[in-house]
Amino acid sequence: MSSHIARQMLSRASRDVLSKSSRSMSAPSGARGFAASSIREKSAIVTGSSRGIGKAIALRLAQDGYDICINDISANKPGIDSTVSEIQSTGRKATGFVADVSKLSEVEDLVAHSVKELGNLDTMVANAGIAQVKALLELTEEDLRRMFEVNVYGVFNCYSAAAKQIIKQGSGGKLLGAASIVAFKPFALLSHYSASKYAVRGLTQAFAMEMAEHKIIVNAYAPGIVGTAMWDLIDEKLGEKSGRKKGETIKKYTEELIALKRTSVPEDVSKVVSFLAGPDSEYVTGQTIVVDGGIIFT
Ligand code: NAD
Repeated sequence: MSSHIARQMLSRASRDVLSKSSRSMSAPSGARGFAASSIREKSAIVTGSSRGIGKAIALRLAQDGYDICINDISANKPGIDSTVSEIQSTGRKATGFVADVSKLSEVEDLVAHSVKELGNLDTMVANAGIAQVKALLELTEEDLRRMFEVNVYGVFNCYSAAAKQIIKQGSGGKLLGAASIVAFKPFALLSHYSASKYAVRGLTQAFAMEMAEHKIIVNAYAPGIVGTAMWDLIDEKLGEKSGRKKGETIKKYTEELIALKRTSVPEDVSKVVSFLAGPDSEYVTGQTIVVDGGIIFT
């Protein structure tokens, strides 16, 4: 066969492959097949965003171009209001809604509120979570139940209520959830918390499989040791067990466990979530992305 004919056949074959693949999945957006680098006219809900990692994610996504719905429990209403004002002062739209993510009907109301105020929902960040330091054999049924109600049912409620809305809209979207490094290797005394984060990883993989046909990508982020109210509690309770003073446990873990030798700040996490919520992650789904300064190596 002459090289001219071989080239023609190759070119026809690759045209066929391209036209088949463009029927089965949408082509990458933007010039030269790369995703467009900015987000326009999109909205996101971030749960548990009156403070900590959730607040940093909300501020970062607003900076990226998202309009944001801030959510938390009623005890943190002042934090909801101040975060909404902070975002509005940057010129983006923001709204707040009190809801307990462990209750499906409240999450459905949260999604409805966000759509009413900000238009179509593009991205759900199921960030809200709780932690508890307790030995396995001291755990009560109620301890276990509440951990799973917030961290697992909460993520399921957010993923499913948002997915139903996004499917109705018809143009795809993103579901993101808060896992943790303990979704890869549990921390002793944080066992039920660790198990709940393993479940977030599992749900994220399962949702990624079932949502792909609706052009919804689903990923989780796995922070390490982030200096927030949650780690204040963990530091204090682990310290009570080991006899270390407040602040000493987080310092010790930072020195001994983190390769980069710096305790994480919420902005470390929000940078990764910005990528997962943005156009450049369009070919990433079902993953749990570790952002921990080098504790767990996946
Ligand atoms: P945080 O305690 O500072 O913030 C969590 C927020 O979620 C709070 O504002 C809280 O009121 C809210 N919340 C709790 N239960 C809720 C419910 N039922 N409904 C709605 N909101 C609720 O904690 P953080 O450190 O910012 O953690 C954010 C997420 O990141 C959590 O899912 C946590 O498990 C995860 N995470 C944190 C760390 C860390 O080191 N801080 C590490 C790994 C994973």
